[in-house]
Amino acid sequence: MGSTTILDRIGNTPLVRLNRVASGCPVPVYGKCEFLNPGGSGKDRIAKAIVDDAERRGVLRSGMTLIEATAGNTGIGLALVAAVRGYRLVCVMPEKMSEDKRAALRAAGAEVVVTPNAPPHDPQNFQQAARRLAAERGWFLTDQFAHPANPRVHEETTGPEILEQCGGRVGAFVCGVGTGGTITGVGRYLRARAPGASVILADPVGSRLAHLVNPAHPDHDAAYAVEGIGGSVAPPVLDFAVIDIAERVSDDESFAMTGRLIREEGLLVGGSSGTAVAAALRIAARSQHSDPIVVLLADSWDRYLSRAWIRQGTASLESE
Ligand code: PMP
Repeated sequence: MGSTTILDRIGNTPLVRLNRVASGCPVPVYGKCEFLNPGGSGKDRIAKAIVDDAERRGVLRSGMTLIEATAGNTGIGLALVAAVRGYRLVCVMPEKMSEDKRAALRAAGAEVVVTPNAPPHDPQNFQQAARRLAAERGWFLTDQFAHPANPRVHEETTGPEILEQCGGRVGAFVCGVGTGGTITGVGRYLRARAPGASVILADPVGSRLAHLVNPAHPDHDAAYAVEGIGGSVAPPVLDFAVIDIAERVSDDESFAMTGRLIREEGLLVGGSSGTAVAAALRIAARSQHSDPIVVLLADSWDRYLSRAWIRQGTASLESE
């Protein structure tokens, strides 16, 4: 028999070995293919977990409205859950986000509210606007940056899947931080069940999170082009205690590695997967043991097809 709904296909994503890009590494490196979730990212897990939690507590009933401040993967994940469970979804995003992202969310059934570009403390900021709309209209704010179901679902599903897929031995787990839910949840699970595993933060150059993990990294707050990870302040659900080491990766290195993942491994991933793999290869190169390294391949390439870095591809025949 098939699945009852598409939501049953969230999680249990494959682990795939990186062959060409990790050739020459002394330990095997595997990608955890979160981009193969139905909505194209690991955010499907938290979208379903947050709604499940609210339904269990009796605060959500079919026909109600979900609201989140998101321009991206969490919005798509919530759109799937809203479609299947019968909710309305409103996504609030700042003006600077691309028209593509608005169009994708609308196509997936969300209503989009666009706010002026404004810093976090400004009442016009998109996160503040979402919070205000939720309070005024009685809508349910899914609140991915603060919701305990976010790290919890990774501790209960992503972490156990990884350890089992590795046959019980993991040398290191490498991922980025958006909300911090993935690294916190997987990190907590590995701390308890695979204490020899290191947990590595892959952070874009320009983000301050690496400095917050280890002050030996310079305190550097600057713009970068990789999307979905890094930031200038620690998100509430992020537990720094689970992180052993931070590795900084430049935009150029991230995008070059993403191109290699697509064209040499056939893994159709977005830019932050390149960041995480570049960091993982540094860890692999200096590994002292033979246990596999697992790296999070967080989202799918389709949401970046309009970006210059992905369109460069291999040289065209005419230019040869
Ligand atoms: N690692 C990478 C490389 C990512 O791109 C993302 C989010 N897109 C994550 C991890 C997980 O995000 P979060 O911290 O919100 O769980």
